[in-house]
Amino acid sequence: MKAKKPPPLSVALISAPWPLYNRPSIQIGSLKAHLKARFPDITVNAHHAYLQIAEAVGYPVYQALSERTWLAESVYAGLLFPEKKKEAKDVFQHQARGKPDLKGIDFVRLVATVEKETKKILSHIFFERMQLVGISVCLCQISASLYFIRQIKRRVPGIRIVLGGSTFSGLSGEALFRFFPEIDNLVHGEGERPLTSIVESLIRKREGKEGISSIQGVTSRDDLQMKAPPVFDQVSALKDLPPPDYEEYFSLLNTFSPGKRFFPTLSLEVSRGCWWRRQARTVKDGGRGCAFCNLNLQWWGYRRKDPGQCAKEVDRVTQKHRVLSVAFTDNILPIAASGALFDALASHGKDYRLFCEIRAGTPKALLEKMHRAGVREVQVGIEALSTPLLKRLNKGTTALENLEIMKHCEALGIKNNSNLILSFPGSTKADVEETLRLLNFAAPLRPLRPVTFWLGRGSPVFRNPLSFGISRVKNHPNYYRLFPRHVADEIPFMIQTYQGGRTYQKKLWRPVYVQIKQWGKEYARLHEDPTHTPILGYSDGGAFLIIRQRRSEGPSLNHRLEGLSRKIYLFCDTIRSVDDILFHFNGLSKERVLPFLKMMVKKRLMVNEGAFYLSLAVRI
Ligand code: SF4
Repeated sequence: MKAKKPPPLSVALISAPWPLYNRPSIQIGSLKAHLKARFPDITVNAHHAYLQIAEAVGYPVYQALSERTWLAESVYAGLLFPEKKKEAKDVFQHQARGKPDLKGIDFVRLVATVEKETKKILSHIFFERMQLVGISVCLCQISASLYFIRQIKRRVPGIRIVLGGSTFSGLSGEALFRFFPEIDNLVHGEGERPLTSIVESLIRKREGKEGISSIQGVTSRDDLQMKAPPVFDQVSALKDLPPPDYEEYFSLLNTFSPGKRFFPTLSLEVSRGCWWRRQARTVKDGGRGCAFCNLNLQWWGYRRKDPGQCAKEVDRVTQKHRVLSVAFTDNILPIAASGALFDALASHGKDYRLFCEIRAGTPKALLEKMHRAGVREVQVGIEALSTPLLKRLNKGTTALENLEIMKHCEALGIKNNSNLILSFPGSTKADVEETLRLLNFAAPLRPLRPVTFWLGRGSPVFRNPLSFGISRVKNHPNYYRLFPRHVADEIPFMIQTYQGGRTYQKKLWRPVYVQIKQWGKEYARLHEDPTHTPILGYSDGGAFLIIRQRRSEGPSLNHRLEGLSRKIYLFCDTIRSVDDILFHFNGLSKERVLPFLKMMVKKRLMVNEGAFYLSLAVRI
């Protein structure tokens, strides 16, 4: 009699809370698309479990939780380690202070709701019929993912559980396997190829053949002795990857009551890795790229897709899901490919609403193309408004370039949601003074968000702490409050703490924090005006220019620039040196131009860094 063929292999991919609820998970969406393309006969289901939790706790509450690591981690930590519930509650209450959407939220009730909903989610997935569960752990998904894993293994002890994502990428995983024996494998680097090999091995075994004994990019519980850093197994060309599959996210959303449905933002990628990191010099032997950055723990090198392919994917995926918002998940968009990408997107004639992360130094002409294609929001790697500090951050930009891109975004109406890092180790009084000086000039532009420096595992500062004057680097104390001591002692987590001038830095940067808060209030007040006139704007009369400077206290100031003054002001729409100005306006003398430029700076109509000048008013 012929042996009965086993049913096709069944795989579940899960993304636990707390990613942004209004975007399908690109991690599990991409893995699903890749596995389905490679093994059309197997069943792969992607579970965007966080969306269900968001619906259960309410979107504003979920949003507030997902914005802060410790808030997010505290919820499932209370479930995962019942003995830590009291401390988790303390962490939650401390972090929830000042968050309007969490006012009055009872931690115990919140945890109970999340527990009930998580169990409901898990009870609707037929793990008994599955052979493999893949869980992607990024950002603040640690305690949630571990809780999911524990519950799944309790239901089906024989199921294989694979953990992937950036959080544990590159670690030996020895302690992780020891403390969480529910985990069978750890994928290092991106998941496509390693997961393919795991699936292939399982299929072989089901067919009575020998499985694959050693898979590149994967460690397992049996490898506890492994000490060498795991080797990644990446796809060589991103063009070979299909677009992510978001089917289940939309199906789930459609089950919600009409009041809870919304139009999501689709996550798509152009590149993996960071082109700046590839080009940048090493930071005092701590590694390449920006000194504080650990965003590239799961990639080696840099790869990007062809702009034409990306534009087609945007077209196809938005068409399929009937939405127009797309967020590019790249660490930074590649400048070289972006012109063609945004031209292609603009040619679709669709009213896209796009978000992307870019570097200061992105040319104005490219920003204009981006705007034409539908970019309405960006995050720019601003980080500092002091050029010496930017140099120590290895940012490769200047403070004036930062102000320039902030101005261009303001002019184009692109919302610029960017950060200013406070208390970077070794910051000097001069850095703070320069920041305060330039903040005065930034007042008409969209305010930056103050973010206190945090030490990320794997960042250049982490790898070479002494060069940055810090020592005694270890897991952040909150991990000790949320996890049992032995876990916090032995698993290297993403957020680290250190010693070295922290109190001094906090005091030093306090005036910057206060000024940014004030800036935010002023900007909001001046934009209460329904006409949305720029705070510092100009109207061009051809032979003259009228600049209007709006103030919250007192009437607006008007300035008229005639003839050559107008021309110089317009010429300095992008950063110009005094030499550039003299060369452009042949015959003009330094003695004539410098007093004009200084007067413009004094009136805060222009800003300068040494001999470089930038006009600040945007066309009304
Ligand atoms: S912060 Fe951005 S630009 Fe800097 S290294 Fe990281 S990904 Fe690259």
